[in-house]
Amino acid sequence: MKIITLTKLKKTLKPHTATLVGGVFDLFHAGHLRYLRKCSEVGRPLVVIVQADKTVRVRKGFNRPIVSEKRRAEIVAALEFVDFVLILDKPSHYEKYLEIIKPRNYVFSKETMKYRKYRARLINDKFPNIKVVFLEKDVRCSSTSFLAKQILAQRDYSKIKNPIVRRLYFLADHSKASIGKISALITLQGKIIAESDNIESKDIHAEHIVIKKAESKGVDLKKTKLYILIPPCILCSQEILKKHISEVYYLHPYGNDDGIKLLHKHGIKVKKIK
Ligand SMILES: [Zn+2]
Repeated sequence: MKIITLTKLKKTLKPHTATLVGGVFDLFHAGHLRYLRKCSEVGRPLVVIVQADKTVRVRKGFNRPIVSEKRRAEIVAALEFVDFVLILDKPSHYEKYLEIIKPRNYVFSKETMKYRKYRARLINDKFPNIKVVFLEKDVRCSSTSFLAKQILAQRDYSKIKNPIVRRLYFLADHSKASIGKISALITLQGKIIAESDNIESKDIHAEHIVIKKAESKGVDLKKTKLYILIPPCILCSQEILKKHISEVYYLHPYGNDDGIKLLHKHGIKVKKIK
């Protein structure tokens, strides 16, 4: 097992051989992966200290970590270039850890350099044998804090100028369907007369549902326009043909163009919304 206690690690490691690095590794992302790989290139065996939940709460906010320490450790331990993982449950006891682990290298990330340099000086004074290494984190992959904000961010609908596009996104964003958050609407003379998302309890797609809704209003479907988030599937395209809708617009390509091909073959206009 790579996840190990301090006592066991002491027995396993040769002094002044290991590379040590600490971190939270909450919502593990590519930035974490690249950073730990770089650490392993500094020297092996690589020992990763994962911060305990109680420490993360204080350091990053009481809504963190999102993933528990055991699971964070499990993910880090699965990396082939990580040799040992420790969960650090006493945040201010890193000196004790350094005394016991006796690493050859201790890696810091270059963010918040002022504090890190101060820590590095303390380590140098007390442990002249330990080499403190500063490594750049790959910020292109962004941090967990940034990713968490992205997830929580609401779409700014006021920035979407086209009212039909705005409505399509709104319906999809608020869809309760667990998979296929797709929306569709039908307009007649520029006015929305039917709208829907993919309703989970129904076996048919949003575009099929709006066609039914518009039909029930008794409008002449030939004069309507159908708007969908993605191109219609083959079944919905058959329905579009059957109901004589002559204009179909979609926002995002999907990769399966069978529906578009069928509609084009029958002279139906299918266009991507710009
Ligand atoms: Zn469909």
